[in-house]
Amino acid sequence: MANIVWHRKLRIYLDLTRADLGHEEYEDLWSTVYAMDRMYSARGVPVRERELQCGGVCQETGVEAPMFLRVRNGRREAVHERAEDEERHTAPLSDEHKAYQERILKAAREGGYAGDSEVRTRVGRSWIQTDTLIEGADGRRFGWEIQLCSAGTEGPRSVRARASRAEKNGITPAWHTDRADYANRHDSHWTRSDNLPAYVIAKTGDLRVVSGYRTLDFWRCDIHAVHPCPHGARRCGKAHATPTPHGILFDDLVRGTAAGLIVPIQFRTATKQHRFWVTDADRDRLEDLQADDTQLPPAPDTSGSADRASYNRPTCRPTREAEPSPLPAPAPIATALHHIPRQAAPPASEAAPLPASPVPGTDVHGGVRREDAVGLEAVIAAQQAADLTRRRLEQLSCDEERRHQRTAWFEAAARAQAAVTRYAQAKRLNRFEVEQRVRRAARDEAGLQRPGCPPPEIRR
Ligand SMILES: [Zn+2]
Ligand SMILES: [Zn+2]
Repeated sequence: MANIVWHRKLRIYLDLTRADLGHEEYEDLWSTVYAMDRMYSARGVPVRERELQCGGVCQETGVEAPMFLRVRNGRREAVHERAEDEERHTAPLSDEHKAYQERILKAAREGGYAGDSEVRTRVGRSWIQTDTLIEGADGRRFGWEIQLCSAGTEGPRSVRARASRAEKNGITPAWHTDRADYANRHDSHWTRSDNLPAYVIAKTGDLRVVSGYRTLDFWRCDIHAVHPCPHGARRCGKAHATPTPHGILFDDLVRGTAAGLIVPIQFRTATKQHRFWVTDADRDRLEDLQADDTQLPPAPDTSGSADRASYNRPTCRPTREAEPSPLPAPAPIATALHHIPRQAAPPASEAAPLPASPVPGTDVHGGVRREDAVGLEAVIAAQQAADLTRRRLEQLSCDEERRHQRTAWFEAAARAQAAVTRYAQAKRLNRFEVEQRVRRAARDEAGLQRPGCPPPEIRR
């Protein structure tokens, strides 16, 4: 039995724990669905050819498990046709799986980030089930999904759908496996470690990620280039990026993503859309390259002076006076990330209160002071300013001017990001959704008049 049933034809989930099956808009949905299922049964239609499937564990592991309905002792029940599907619901998580969940939580906690396992995030009438959900910096949420050998050779089938559903709802999917065949799929940002026993995964020692994390090599396509031109046999003279596999410790990956220092990207080659993780600096350089591939994007500045442009996307809470104050750094993101300029402390967000000392602009509870809140109009204006500085960059050719303009762009982007964060926190809105809306509105001058985006005075 299962409590959640997926109706293939109606494309809705039926929640058997609720009288209205979770759909108050359809009157007496149960009677309709149940009568139909009975009729199929009476006509001898096999269960697998009917409309109902398990919408719980079975679907989450990518298995289409046929179900039928019955009423027993006055209780509604959905029953798996096959016993092996039923067993999936009672099978305890493997020790390895649990060890991974604990490892993720521990690594995150050491970086100052909260999290929980087996989380259901309500989304409209349905929900997103997450193996382990980490509350990262700046309201970012990461849904870690662990898929180990036990998941079967075919592997999870609905990964792309699940991943994009999570993304749309502000949860960055992070899929981890110990199987090479899963890791070679391109339906999500898979990372892989070797197949290890639970006691090794649970230990605090090195747990290495062997694929799914890459560095980007930026190079000019001339006679000195090592790589072939991705566009053809000839040297085109433009700048290109080539991803190179790079090892990273699993704990650093968990903390790095939570901090916003490691980000997922999509990378298109002639034949495929690849998905993997890179540093935010590499991501920014790639965006720069995509905007203009006549120039090599400048290397991130690692010379250590605190007051110059950072190539980190403004994931941190920027200090309000652009004054680089030596705030306590987040717990060490070791080895593989040491070349990234250290950011200020992760923002004190409601989701992940930090034990650190108060950050300027926040009250003692880590919340945002009311007077820091900005109106939506100002947020959109900040985004437009950032977009504008970026467009200007694309028109420049002189190195010096570009360097200057790039600094301006990153600073403007930092201001826009900070404004989004402040606004979302002050209004208690999903930061991801606010950012999407602001970007749309900034792109479209008429955005403010759209019904979905009322002017700020109404929103206040
Ligand atoms: Zn099931
Ligand atoms: Zn080329």
